[in-house]
Amino acid sequence: MSASRYFSDTYQAAREKFRAAVAKAGGIPSTEANPGKGPDGGSLATDAAWFGPKDPSRALLLVSGTHGVEGFCGSGAEVGWIETGGPGRLPPGIGALVIHAINPHGFAWLRRVTDDNVDLNRNFVDFTRPLPENPAYDEIAAALDPERWDDAARADCARRLQTYADKHGDFALQSAISRGQHKHKGGLFFGGTVPTWSRRTFLALCRRHLARCRHVGFIDLHTGLGPYGYGEPICMHAPGTSGFSRVSAWYGDQVTSPEQGNSTSAVVVGTLGEGLERELPQVAVTGMALEYGTQPVPDVLLALRADNWLHRHGDPASPLGRKIKRQIRDAFYQDKDDWKEMVLKRALEMFDRAVAGLARA
Ligand SMILES: [Zn+2]
Repeated sequence: MSASRYFSDTYQAAREKFRAAVAKAGGIPSTEANPGKGPDGGSLATDAAWFGPKDPSRALLLVSGTHGVEGFCGSGAEVGWIETGGPGRLPPGIGALVIHAINPHGFAWLRRVTDDNVDLNRNFVDFTRPLPENPAYDEIAAALDPERWDDAARADCARRLQTYADKHGDFALQSAISRGQHKHKGGLFFGGTVPTWSRRTFLALCRRHLARCRHVGFIDLHTGLGPYGYGEPICMHAPGTSGFSRVSAWYGDQVTSPEQGNSTSAVVVGTLGEGLERELPQVAVTGMALEYGTQPVPDVLLALRADNWLHRHGDPASPLGRKIKRQIRDAFYQDKDDWKEMVLKRALEMFDRAVAGLARA
């Protein structure tokens, strides 16, 4: 098996590969055009494919590119599943909705965020209620969003963040930065103040295809946390819920839970899973994020700070801009054959487990 052929070097190439795989496998394609453009002037879209019976009682839901640039990984996993006969292995009565590049802007521009600088996986909060506070982020906000990105400015920011980590711990620093915030719209992990295009598109696709299901097995594909190439199944549901029990039963003892403190991820608020459950309350959702490791967390966070600075104050086409773009791509996508093999093997294993869980549900 050579997994590399399922992965792509650019958003446009990934899109073409996905659409070709869907056509070959007999999936029903659909395209949601995004109003923006890629850095090459090319059009942007979220593609989706439906496999299996019309109106099944249960469905697998795969999503790639929630965090834009992480779509290199998720796209490869989706294309690999389709190309290796995944749709054909669906038992009777089970369908699959595969969503490709739900944040096409971030994928094409090599960014984790949407065009409005929103972290899509923090954007699914209920905007009719008071937004979650993140006072820890407020404390270090200036060090995360400097106006300059030279050696002196970088060192000064690093020093201030290290001071926070020395006082509260490394994971507390990661949590402060990544749990999500709704106050600093030019900052990191900004959850937004309104629903983004990607949120509306995701929910519309789910309504269209999944509203009549009684059970959906949801896997959201991510990268950037954990050991190189390892895919960590992170439970989307709070401990004590029926969703939590089902995720544990389906995926076994490797499942982690941010709320229980055994995950590489901090507790995050406003995820796609929350949005899906709120949108389709009649549907039982068994959801997990499959999170693949790339580089050490400090390198990943540094790449995010650099990229945030670049799009606020710098020029992506400059030599420094190109260097930062390379840095953020590497932070979320290891363009290496062994990494892709690990990603695909794990993805197929987890997708099979989801389908088996649905078959029993
Ligand atoms: Zn992610």
